[in-house]
Formats: sequence, structure tokens, C-alpha cells
Amino acid sequence: MFPKPPDPARPAQRSPTRIGLLAALVVLFVVAVLGATVWLAADYQRNEREEALMAATETAIAALRGRLGAAERALGQIAHEIDPAAPAARFEAGAARLLADDPSLLRIEMRNSDGALIAAADPVDPRPRIAADQRGTLGFETTLAKHSAMTFSRAVYSRPYYVSASGGLGFEVTDLAVPWDTAAESGSLLAIRSLPRMLDRLLPADFERAHQITLIESDGTLVARTSSGLIGAGVYVVSAPLELPGVTLLLRVNSLERSPGLVPGMLAASLVALVLGLASSGLLLWRDTRRRLAAEQALREQQAFRKAMEDSLVTGLYAYDLEGRITYVNPAFCEMTGYRAEALLGAAPPIAPADTGTDEPPHRPGQGIGTGRQGFEIELQRRDGERFPALVFEAALIDESGRQTGWMGSILDIGERRRVEELNRRQQEKLQAHARMAMLGEVATALSHELNQPLAAITSYATACENLLLEDFEPDPRARDRAAQRTILRSALERIRSQSERAGQVIHGVQAFVRRRRIEREPIAIDALLRDIEPLVRLQARKWNAQLVFRIDGSPLVCGDRTMLEQALLNLTRNGAEAMDGIPPLQRMLTVESGAHREAERDWVRVSVSDLGCGVAPEAEPQLFQPFFTTKPEGLGIGLSLSRSVIEAHGGQLRRERRDGPGSVFSILLPLHRPAPARREMAGLASEALPPGP
Ligand code: ADP
Repeated sequence: MFPKPPDPARPAQRSPTRIGLLAALVVLFVVAVLGATVWLAADYQRNEREEALMAATETAIAALRGRLGAAERALGQIAHEIDPAAPAARFEAGAARLLADDPSLLRIEMRNSDGALIAAADPVDPRPRIAADQRGTLGFETTLAKHSAMTFSRAVYSRPYYVSASGGLGFEVTDLAVPWDTAAESGSLLAIRSLPRMLDRLLPADFERAHQITLIESDGTLVARTSSGLIGAGVYVVSAPLELPGVTLLLRVNSLERSPGLVPGMLAASLVALVLGLASSGLLLWRDTRRRLAAEQALREQQAFRKAMEDSLVTGLYAYDLEGRITYVNPAFCEMTGYRAEALLGAAPPIAPADTGTDEPPHRPGQGIGTGRQGFEIELQRRDGERFPALVFEAALIDESGRQTGWMGSILDIGERRRVEELNRRQQEKLQAHARMAMLGEVATALSHELNQPLAAITSYATACENLLLEDFEPDPRARDRAAQRTILRSALERIRSQSERAGQVIHGVQAFVRRRRIEREPIAIDALLRDIEPLVRLQARKWNAQLVFRIDGSPLVCGDRTMLEQALLNLTRNGAEAMDGIPPLQRMLTVESGAHREAERDWVRVSVSDLGCGVAPEAEPQLFQPFFTTKPEGLGIGLSLSRSVIEAHGGQLRRERRDGPGSVFSILLPLHRPAPARREMAGLASEALPPGP
């Protein structure tokens, strides 16, 4: 299967509006991705922190619960160890230990089932004191807790209630009631715990330092806050229940940390965007590489296809730029010219140098002449100097932007065709020569046959006359009389005359036959005629390796038979080319000149053919225009004589001119034709004022 030819369509031009729209879309997309990434990063961070806060809060509550549980157990232990004999004694020792261990306890009381105070212990270190008179009558919350503890035989916390401290200050406390029971009586131990101190002292110090912590009742009443006075940022706030036996409080923790910063978010977003960008560009690169590989593969296939096609061609292909330097040649071109491709690339096409002196330069490639189907002919020169004719077809090379960058051409070597044409021409010439010879032979036979009889008769009559005359001068007695002899002699002479007249008639008959051929007359521009025969003359010159110079001056008219004049001129040029056979090729030059000429007070058109050949030998000079005179082995010797007849029949003259230096000049003078209403007959012209011959 053939690879697909490259798509000639050029990529569509994108309008500025489309590009702007595309850029805006890309910017929007990037901004959206960045915004979403920042938001996601912040949200993630917020969740993280919230979860961390919740975990820290739960840890803190667990620690608090641990400390409270320890206090509960210690108070339970004290209650358990009460000595019925001296209840207060043991109580005081245990309560003092507990107060020392738990800094949030302000007082521990031992009361009986009626609520009457049996013993009380206060801390020894400085803590807010609860005045004894404040504890005269138990409040509702305490009573309820005490009652519950005794009822359910377990530790119970009272709802928080307010106590005023010295200095007008007050705070919320909760009483922890633990029942005691001896055989004699029962009651409960009450440990009064300051809630603000509980937060300050029992929560882990690190946790407390980093948060604003408040304690809230289930109805939302604030009961305590840490004394540090820290204000939370309000961004990360969690509330966790602090479940105590008998009461449930809420620990509200407000972190000091602010919203996630934009810069780290941006950094994270940039990082994500970068990664996304990298990933997408990697993807694009991969796709691009795949496409490129596919395109390269297609290109390689096309190149191989093109190379095979070029190699199989017998037509030479070449391309060259506008400066005339070859940029490409195919193998057939190299084979034709004998050069290697490397030697041709960058050089000018190997065109054979023009024939010196020609008026018109030969067509050169790149003139846009051979762009049609006709092409044009040029002469190329092989590496070994041999010239050969070539037919060139050209097309302009246009680049993507529509600019011409050079020419592409194909070349056909028509040397072989020319050789065949030349062979045909020569064979034709030979055939014509043979035909002429045959005709001459026939004419000669007929003539000899016709002339033979009168000549034979003349000879026999002449012999008879001779014998009669001999008898006359030798007197013989038996001789006839003289009168009879004279009669016989006269009769013989008459017959001789009549026979010679008959021979003359035969010859006149032949002349009349030859002259019967009519000359077709028409006005002929001599320059056009010369240009018409120029290719044939060039062929003749090329055959003898001679340079050809054509100098045509003006366009004078003559009147005559075009074909006959052409034949006469071609005969002269062939003679000139042949005459240069013996001289070195570089000196061979055939010149054809034409122009107006004035001689013997008449206007003529003169066409001369000069060569630099062997010239005419002095002894051959007088016979030059004689029929059948030739110095060539295969010559007929009728060219010059026929040409002269033709030219003279046109009222002109063919002559050999004298010249200094080597070679010969043959010139033709033809009367100048002026188109006039009354034209004189050519025959008449012939007899008029012919210039004197050489
Ligand atoms: P042919 O060419 O067949 O010999 P032509 O009549 O054309 O017959 O020429 C006769 C002879 O004249 C030639 O054989 C040659 O010797 C001589 N001749 C003709 N033209 C030239 C010339 N240009 N230079 C020298 N000799 C010439």
C-alpha cells in the first residue's frame, strides 16, 4: 500500500479573539484550581485541628476524670475507715491527706444523717476559704447530693452552686457526697470542690495553657473558667461532657489557634498545582512523542517510497534555488551528466557554453520558459566535455507562504533521438543522391541511345565522304566521272547535317524538359528564411564540430521559390562545413551573414557563407561550377552547378569571392524585392544588369 501523501492544507490561522478566549479560559481554570486547592487545604487543616482539639480535650477530660476518681476513692476510703468509737479522729487524718493531694478541694466535712456537722477539715495551704458560718445550713444542691449518696450508697456530686469568698469574690463549687455508715450511726462525707480550681489545677498544664476552657452546666450556665484569662480564637471550639456521678457538666474548650494561614495554603496549592501541571505536561509530552514517532515513521515510509520512485526514473530530475544553485538531483540526472550528486549540489546546472557570436542566448533553466507541456531544448555538457541536447520541463517551487524558492525540472536526453534523426536525414540524402544518380543514368542512357544513331550515321557518312575524296586525288582510269562523285559527296554531307540536326534536336528536347520546371514565386523575408534553416545548418555544423555564427542584418525581401533558395543555401553551408574537415576542431567556424547590398546601381540582398576550411585549389577554380566536378570521394559534383542555375533563375548570382586568409566565401546576390503594384518578371530581371562575376 502506498503511504498517504502529505496533507497539503496549511494549518488554519487562529484569530486573536480565539486566542484571547483560550487564554482567559486557561487563566480561569488555573485560578479555579488554585482556589479549590487552597480551600481544600484549609478545610483539611481545619478538620485536622478540630480532630486534634477533640482528641486533646478527651485526653484532658480523661486525666481530670482520673484525678476526680482518685479523690472519690480516697474519700470512700476515709468513709470506710471511720472509727465508730471516735469517728472524727480518723476522719481528720484522712481528710488532711486528701486536701493536701487535691488542690481543688476547699473543705471536707463529716456530717451525720441529719446533716449536722460532726467534723470538718480545712486545707493548711492558702486556698479560698469557706467560712464555717456559710456551711451552717446546707443548701439544696448539697442536701440533694447527700441524700442521694446515702440513698444509693455511692458517691454523688451536687449541682454546682455559688459560694462567696472573702473579698467579695465568689465562685462555683460542687460538693462530693460519700456516705459513711457505722454500726452506731450513719451520715455522709462532703468534699467541697472549687470548680475554677478544679480546671486550673487538675487539668494537664499544657492543655490549659493553650486553650480557653470553661465549664458549663447542661442548661448553658457558665460555672467556671480557667484563671489564666486566655481568650480563644473562636475558630476551633469543642464541647465535651464531663460526666460526674449525679451531675453532668460540659467542658468547653476554645483553642487559641487561628484559621489556617493563606500562605501555607497557597504553598500547598502551588505544590499541588505544580504536581498537576507536571503530570499534565508529562501526559502531553507522552502524547506528543507518540504523535511525533508516528509522523516520523510516516515520513520515513514516504522518503523510502519517494527514493524508490526517483531511482526507478529514467528522466533526470533536478531542483535549484533562485540564485541558480542546484539543490537536488536524482540518480538519472547524475547518470546523464556523468557527475556525482555531491559535485552537482550547490553548483550551477552543467549547461554547455553557448556558440560564440550567436545573437540569441540559448534558453536557460529558470526563465520560466519550459513550464508548459512543450518544454524547451538546451544543450548540456557531460563531465567528459561531450555536449548533448536535452528537453527540459520546469515548474516553479513554491513554499508554504506562497513565495517562489526556486525551480524543479525534469530532463530528457534527446541525444539518441537526434542521432536517429541525423541518421534518417543522411539516409534520406543518400537515397536522394542515388535517385539522382539513377535518374542521371536513365537520362544518360536515353541520351546515348538517342544520340547513338545520328552519331553512327554521321560517322559512316563522314567515312564515305573521306573515301570519295581519296578516290578523287588518285586518278584511276576506271574511275567514275567527277560529276557523279560530287553528287554522292553532296548527298553524304547533307545527311551528315541532317543527322547532326537530329542530335541537336535531341539535346534541345532534353534542355526544354529541364527548363519546363516552373519556379513558384513569392515574396520571402530573407531573415525569416535564414532562421528557418538555422536548425538544419546547426545540425550540419555540429556534425563537423564547427561553431556557427549567424549575423542577420535587417529583413529585406526577395521574390522567389523558398524551397529552391533554401536548398541552394544549405548546399553552400554543407560545402563550407565539409571543407573544414581537415583543420583542428577549435578553429572550425562557419559564418552565415545577410544584409542589403548595392552593386551596379542596383539594390540586392546578399547572403554569404564563409568557412575557414581548405579553400579551393587554383587548378580547381575554373571547374568549380561545372556539373560533375567534385574533389570528394562520395561527391556528385552537381551541388554548385545546380545552385548557380537556381540562383540565376531567380535573377541573381552565385559566386565565389576572393578573401585573404584561409577558407572560402561563397555569396548569393538576389534582387531586392519591393512590393509594387506592377512587378517585373523574374526572367526579365535575370538578363538585366547582372553584376560582373568574379
Ligand atoms: P560536391 O559537394 O558533391 O563535391 P559541389 O558542386 O557542391 O559538389 O562542389 C564541387 C566541388 O567544389 C567540391 O568537390 C569542392 O572541391 C569544391 N568546393 C565547393 N565548395 C567548397 C568550399 N567551401 N571550399 C572548398 N572547396 C569547395
